[in-house]
Amino acid sequence: MKAYLIEKPNKGMLTDVSVPAPADDEILVEVKAAGICGTDVHIFKGEYYGGYPRIPGHEFSGVVAAVGKNVTKFKVGQHIAADPNIFCEKCDQCKANIQNFCEDMHAVGVTRHGAFAQYLTVPERCVFDITGMNFTEAALVEPLACVVYGQEKAGVPLGASVLIMGAGPIGLMHLQLAKMNGVAEVVVVDIFEHKLVLATKLGADKVYLADEFEKSDQRNKYELVIDCTGVPKVVESSIKYVKDSGTMLFFGVCPDNSTIIINPYEIFKRELRLIGSFALKKTYGKALKLAKSGKINLTALVDKKLTLDDLPEYFNNLSSVNHGFKTVVYPNGII
Ligand SMILES: [Zn+2]
Ligand SMILES: [Zn+2]
Repeated sequence: MKAYLIEKPNKGMLTDVSVPAPADDEILVEVKAAGICGTDVHIFKGEYYGGYPRIPGHEFSGVVAAVGKNVTKFKVGQHIAADPNIFCEKCDQCKANIQNFCEDMHAVGVTRHGAFAQYLTVPERCVFDITGMNFTEAALVEPLACVVYGQEKAGVPLGASVLIMGAGPIGLMHLQLAKMNGVAEVVVVDIFEHKLVLATKLGADKVYLADEFEKSDQRNKYELVIDCTGVPKVVESSIKYVKDSGTMLFFGVCPDNSTIIINPYEIFKRELRLIGSFALKKTYGKALKLAKSGKINLTALVDKKLTLDDLPEYFNNLSSVNHGFKTVVYPNGII
């Protein structure tokens, strides 16, 4: 089968490898759609350790092509998607119900081969039925599950004003989910006008270009501020927008050696909550139901469709500023 393999950091290639055989408790999936995410870029650049060589891709959907002998709930031909996180459910962290910090964590496309290939294997316990959904939407359930987890962690007060920094695919998922959580208004900020246009279409009450927003001086106004940029300077300058007693959710992934300046007196005096949310934990099923309901528009977030043949060029020409929305790869042909 064809696969995009990262041999070592900054060296990826299209290659031919044999179709993996599913273990007894695994399913072989013919991959129909796979989203490209920041994590794949980090793996390509060697900034995220999962071991090499690696076929990346952890946001995917497809068709069951074969099942191991102990698989009971799925059959060949069924349309499925999967939570890529494989928790051991045995370690102290798993027993404490903080599985996203599992001591023996595995993840499809990170510590084992992923979806930028025509086929992959995944344990049955990670797999979900997606009957009735299209493959592109279903591939985006994984990032939506992270967004669901983030808003559950942060808490979204009814009637709140919510500020979202960054109108990429993740920011626009946060926008749509916040609207469903009973907030009074969602304001979205970005540096690109065309991203704000889509934010407005997807329900943003107000949108601002970043410099206009800075000038409008809206400090102490938002019960919840969600950073979806992962830019330390943006995070640092966003804390002032959190209302007294409000919450700032650190969602965008900042470089792991970055620092920001926080005034501890401000955190104390204004009773601010600074919350992190890492990956997802058991929210995949909820995100899938939301996506199935049609209440969250995932297909509008896709602006680029690629085949496996396009991937070497894509990863070799990554730009530092992300102009686009979501790129989806179709390993068995664009659909
Ligand atoms: Zn991802
Ligand atoms: Zn564990």
